[in-house]
Amino acid sequence: MKITAIETHVCHARMRNWIFVKVVTDQPGLFGWGEATLEWHTRAVAGAIEDLAELVIGEDPRRIEHLWQMMYRQHFWHGHGIVRSTAISGIDIALWDIAGKIADMPCSQLWGGPVRDWIRTYCHLGGGHLEDFYETSVEDARRFGDLASKAVEDGFTAFKSMAVPPTMPVEGLRPVQLAEACVAAMRDAVGDEIDIMVDCHARPSPAMGLQFGQALDPYGLYFFEEPCWPEHLDGLVMINSSIKTPVATGERMIALTDFRDLFAQRGCEICQLDITHCGGLTAARRIAALADAYGIALAPHNPQGPVSTAASLEFGFSQPGYVICETVHEDVPYRNDIVSEGFHVEPKGRLVRPNTRPGLGIEIDEAEIRKHPFQQEMPQRVFYPDGSVGDW
Ligand SMILES: [Mg+2]
Repeated sequence: MKITAIETHVCHARMRNWIFVKVVTDQPGLFGWGEATLEWHTRAVAGAIEDLAELVIGEDPRRIEHLWQMMYRQHFWHGHGIVRSTAISGIDIALWDIAGKIADMPCSQLWGGPVRDWIRTYCHLGGGHLEDFYETSVEDARRFGDLASKAVEDGFTAFKSMAVPPTMPVEGLRPVQLAEACVAAMRDAVGDEIDIMVDCHARPSPAMGLQFGQALDPYGLYFFEEPCWPEHLDGLVMINSSIKTPVATGERMIALTDFRDLFAQRGCEICQLDITHCGGLTAARRIAALADAYGIALAPHNPQGPVSTAASLEFGFSQPGYVICETVHEDVPYRNDIVSEGFHVEPKGRLVRPNTRPGLGIEIDEAEIRKHPFQQEMPQRVFYPDGSVGDW
């Protein structure tokens, strides 16, 4: 059995371009789907996939670990830069899809069978609608409350918000008070039964992340995400040890050694590895084993396209430490035209029952993808009031 082609199919999805990776074999009808979506780097990832293809075309797709080692270690440069690791991830996910199809069982079954009956999902405020999530001003706490109520009406028992504004390395009380007002409004709107998450998007410095974290601590957040840059591991450690709310991070980390350091120094309680960036399902399973050793939970980053979601769910059904799946469902109206999924989402509670189809259990409609060709991603840039550069 041999790999005969690696195809990249780009589908514009407003905030990002979904990059789907199709690994084709010499067996009639046998191919796999992966995803390598990396917003604002679409052409670079497509090029990296093309560069990697020469390593794997002609090889046996069943030797997934061997191919992963080749993609990571050959070509001299190790594969832990974001572009190459995303490309590797897309191919790796597709190889696992193929493995499941060969075995005629879902990927989670390949990894020992489902460890749970269902997976809980959470949404972004606005369900993935870019403006609701990213552009609702923290000056409008009532809007945060209204969007929170809408998420619960849509069946979710947990949702994430961006209630922390961009701040300079040190600022006074006002942004902290605004963030607190937004979280208070959401808590008032949905009560204590619903889980609320706040994503800081690594906007704050460690000092500001600590201030936000301490101010929001009384509201019982489910987790407090990226309270400072992932590069500032000492800052993450300081914040995680200073608040009772669990700190979540990891979506911008790739190398296994970075996860090791994050866990060993206790920079978080929830690891948000991104299966489409960290080296695919092969690497995700290694990171999960590491996290398990430290009693750190898993909630993979997943605001991307439908292959990423299917991969996250298959992974989640195989990992005891997996607590919740990030989802977006209203990013573009044609999401469900692109994909047919093998799992079922219960409208009440938004719980997902296991996929019963082989591999990732998805079918991708290539003709639908062609209706939405690449478009440059929408610019998202932050400048502080004095004109200096901030983090989005
Ligand atoms: Mg995030």
